[in-house]
Amino acid sequence: MLTVNTPVEQINKIGKATAKKLQKLGVQTAGDFLCYYPFRYEDFSRMVKIADLQAGMTANVRGKLEFIQNKRSPRQHMFITEGLVRDDSGQLRIVWFNQPFIGKSLHTGEIVSLAGTAQGGFLGLEMASPEYERLSSLASAGTHTTGIVPMYHLTANLTNRQVRFLVKSVIGLAFQVEDILPAAIQRTYHLLSLPQALQNIHFPQSPEMLERARRRLQFEELFLVQLKAQVKKSEFKSQRAEAIKFFDKETKSFVKNLPFELTGAQKKAGWEILQNMQKGEPMSRLLEGDVGSGKTVTSAIAMYNVALNKKQSALLVPTEILAQQHFETLTKLFKGVDISIGLFTRTSRKVVSLKSYDLQLNVSKETLLKAVKDDKIDIVVGTHALIQEDVEFHDLALAVIDEQHRFGVAQRQALRAKSGETKIVPHLLSMTATPIPRSLAQVIYGDLDISIINELPKGRKKISTFVVPEAKRAGAYDFIKKQIASGRQAFVICPLISPSDKLGVKSVEEEYKKLNKNIFPHLKIASLHGRMRAEAKEEVMQKFLSNEIKILVSTSVVEVGVDVPNATVMMIEGAERFGLAQLHQFRGRVGRSTHQSYCLLFTASLNEQTRARLDTFARSSDGFKLAEADLRQRGPGEVYGTAQKGFPEFKIATLNDYALIKQTKTAAESIVAAGVEKYPKLLEKIKDEGEYVVG
Ligand code: ADP
Ligand code: MG
Repeated sequence: MLTVNTPVEQINKIGKATAKKLQKLGVQTAGDFLCYYPFRYEDFSRMVKIADLQAGMTANVRGKLEFIQNKRSPRQHMFITEGLVRDDSGQLRIVWFNQPFIGKSLHTGEIVSLAGTAQGGFLGLEMASPEYERLSSLASAGTHTTGIVPMYHLTANLTNRQVRFLVKSVIGLAFQVEDILPAAIQRTYHLLSLPQALQNIHFPQSPEMLERARRRLQFEELFLVQLKAQVKKSEFKSQRAEAIKFFDKETKSFVKNLPFELTGAQKKAGWEILQNMQKGEPMSRLLEGDVGSGKTVTSAIAMYNVALNKKQSALLVPTEILAQQHFETLTKLFKGVDISIGLFTRTSRKVVSLKSYDLQLNVSKETLLKAVKDDKIDIVVGTHALIQEDVEFHDLALAVIDEQHRFGVAQRQALRAKSGETKIVPHLLSMTATPIPRSLAQVIYGDLDISIINELPKGRKKISTFVVPEAKRAGAYDFIKKQIASGRQAFVICPLISPSDKLGVKSVEEEYKKLNKNIFPHLKIASLHGRMRAEAKEEVMQKFLSNEIKILVSTSVVEVGVDVPNATVMMIEGAERFGLAQLHQFRGRVGRSTHQSYCLLFTASLNEQTRARLDTFARSSDGFKLAEADLRQRGPGEVYGTAQKGFPEFKIATLNDYALIKQTKTAAESIVAAGVEKYPKLLEKIKDEGEYVVG
């Protein structure tokens, strides 16, 4: 007996060879067929009499084959299959090209159903290359020519006809598939039952039913991701964390002493974080803010309050350059405050006490580890080394992770596990400059609360962005010369480190040589890339920061977080090789002072779409808007796929339907609130689904 678990090779009419092909599509059992959703449909639901057919009309006609024959057309070097079909209203000429098997499989006198678009031919109305099938009677249901017909992604030598036929032969099993979505949720959100949805996703009764089927299946996918996140969140929240008291007076005075006024968005985000940490349950929050929106100082307010509570914070960053820079930034921000900060990377260790400004360089690892363990350091800034090495904290109460997309789940968990002997987990603040629209972030980071800084500090000038044609390259170099003459600095970004065979793709090594020798012989230029030793990188960054180096030729290592306010030109070679979000990150390296800044894009691509994409970028300076544009054009997998770990993969859901995302989130929350253990099937399902969500 056929069940959902029947292997495909045991299904009637499927041979070994076909089974192998199906395996390539991931279809191993009869049940898999049900979940092998079409990717599009042909609408043949208009059934007409032959006499009512008009040129340009796509429709289904049925009748008796008056004749059918194959003939060779020597002039056109092809086979032509010609036929004539008649119903009680008239007759229609049909023709296929180079498909002689059709002429052999259909026979004069048979009842056929045809679907396609009619066109005016030499001999009157005809249908060229229609979908066809034989029917036992004029009233029979068709599979390939009637109604809304599914089109599947195929693999070599499988046809839509085969797949359709096979799916149809097992579609009755839809009633055996277990429907795990709780009835109450199906009712609340007006969802089709699973069997109805499966039947209609393959063989829709109507466009409306197709839409409802799609919505039901998408709902389930999104719901499960959300549920998993919500379960994780509630488990995490059931642990204990230090309640961090908000020190009103001290915080106000810290903020007042900053060299700038916080933006409204910074204040709001800071407030959300402080509120969150006051509770005894652990915070798990994502701080999203465009490049240059001032996330560092926002997190510093949180770290300051932790220090005032006599507890420790860790600030984890992805690169040595950034660690160094954050150490210095915090040193400046906390000037005169009674706080001590440590820097811990693979190659560099420092400690500074800011009350008296006592800075120790080249601290030994042992000394630093001991100081951290003995609670002599309030804030430890570090790279991966911070989690890899056996750093023990005295009482870590807050872990801040900068540019969190560079870190995986395991690393975050390792950091959380560093809370020392207390068995109390630290609050977690993840920061990202990858602007992900809130609703999308709710799927990807469903287990995190989200704060967004959607406002740049006052006085920032819009960065003038141009796609520069190759003919104006010399002019661009002159422009850079002028900028440098007036005291500014420039970045030049290349897609590669070393020259490669890929024609026209610029590399740091080549460009550095060219610029240094031929273009800017009198200026100090340096190169920077990921293959350099950490000390060498740091030295270059230091010299660039102190304006000794005027032009920095670099790869995407400067993408993340680097802050050199005096730089005003960002020149990007091979711009087509970067995503919009990444280009936006590069652009964010300039425009960090009151000087007007510029972003110059060069591309070797003549592709129109690429041009359009770069033009979109040049026109918009809003990271969130760009992310949305990028998402529309390339889809989330492309935009965040490689950089973003833990991205869910969907069969049918998309991440563009924000209303549906919201509904599934609310639904998942309601299940967790009611107690997910009441739904053992759901629990089992989300356990099986693999690691979806980061946090
Ligand atoms: P990001 O959010 O990209 O990490 P940073 O924290 O590095 O941004 O801040 C970018 C720059 O803006 C820094 O030089 C910082 O001192 C400055 N800054 C931060 N907040 C403000 C503000 N409210 N007004 C003016 N400048 C600010
Ligand atoms: Mg930053």
